Amino acid sequence: MTTSAEHIEVSERRSAHNYHPLPIVIHEAHGAWVTDVEGKRYLDCLSGYSSLNFGHGNPKIIEAAHEQLNNLTLTSRAFYHDQFATFCAGLGDLTGKDMILPMNTGAEAVETAIKVARKWGYQVKGVAPEQANIIVMEDNFHGRTTTIISFSTDPDAHDEFGPYTPGFTVVKYGSAEAIREAIDANTVAVLVEPIQGEAGVLVPPDGYLRQVRELCTAQGILMIADEIQSGLGRTGKTFACEHEGVVPDIYILGKALGGGVVPVSAIAADEDVLGVIKPGQHGSTFGGNPLACAVGNAVIEILNTGEFQARAAQLGEVLHARLREMIGHGVVTVRGRGLWAGVDIDPSLTTGREVSKALMARGVLAKDTQGSTIRLAPPIVISQEDLLWAVDQLADAIASF
Ligand code: PLP
Repeated sequence: MTTSAEHIEVSERRSAHNYHPLPIVIHEAHGAWVTDVEGKRYLDCLSGYSSLNFGHGNPKIIEAAHEQLNNLTLTSRAFYHDQFATFCAGLGDLTGKDMILPMNTGAEAVETAIKVARKWGYQVKGVAPEQANIIVMEDNFHGRTTTIISFSTDPDAHDEFGPYTPGFTVVKYGSAEAIREAIDANTVAVLVEPIQGEAGVLVPPDGYLRQVRELCTAQGILMIADEIQSGLGRTGKTFACEHEGVVPDIYILGKALGGGVVPVSAIAADEDVLGVIKPGQHGSTFGGNPLACAVGNAVIEILNTGEFQARAAQLGEVLHARLREMIGHGVVTVRGRGLWAGVDIDPSLTTGREVSKALMARGVLAKDTQGSTIRLAPPIVISQEDLLWAVDQLADAIASF
């Protein structure tokens, strides 16, 4: 197979249609730029849904991966290996938490947090057996497993995949009052995205996360922050919760933790929470493997410099200032934080999908969500010049409808 058309034809015929990709076949990528099989270059403004915060082929991460590939790739957790302690201590220090439980994908880490919160509810809070309940948000996105989609409010994600896992109460996102009203004696945790990515980069009202933190503390329940997409530099801070000075009881991390190289996820919590898990109660053959930990260690080293957080904050200001100028010119609203934006296209003009295609024709890769929102999340290594060029292409693409 050589041409894009051939790759796409076979992919569509031989793979499940659980995605609807843009018609591009990528062959290689460096920094913020990707090249397709025909040699055409595009500026990546999606970053693998924020997995590539540090850029495609980040030299530090690739070097760490190569070195580890030559030494040791897998032991299983039946044995210790020499990358594990550094990873857990490093991520523990970055999050300010005592302990780490490493997994692979984001959904697995969310499942892990749910299990830990339930166990904590029974053992520490004293909830009656089988009664533990977790408060979750409307329009949440936490992954695709059966338990997680049980509390999704997106019909595509949820419908006809039942029977569903009980033990969740859905409330309105952005309202601390709604959480307060939903809390009862069986509530063990509140699970929240500090910014809802898949819902269209929805930033909650100022003070919301602080109110959630205060409520959880006052009621003796756990605050769980899913920072899988919002965390690790994207918003201009290491964690999006930091914008409100909030520290959750459990951080859920993934995506960029694997440096765009391997799936690496984890939850981070203090010993009084994560200590409830004992041998045999949870695990994963690949979770915390040597390659994942070596890559994770390179990511943690990069984050410890603060360089990417500062760059996302600075470029984010440039991005949002320029995007705000587009309001009224085919753009209805712009939301986001740092190098992360949701741009709502005027639905009377066209759909987000059509704008994505028009952008692709102009050499920029971005993906629509929720019908009319274009999500922009370029690798944080992007130059300011390229960033402004991408926004110019977006303006031009919208003007073409
Ligand atoms: N949680 C959030 C906030 C996400 O954005 C995602 C993925 O988009 C997930 C969880 C699921 O991660 P994964 O696709 O690695 O299972």
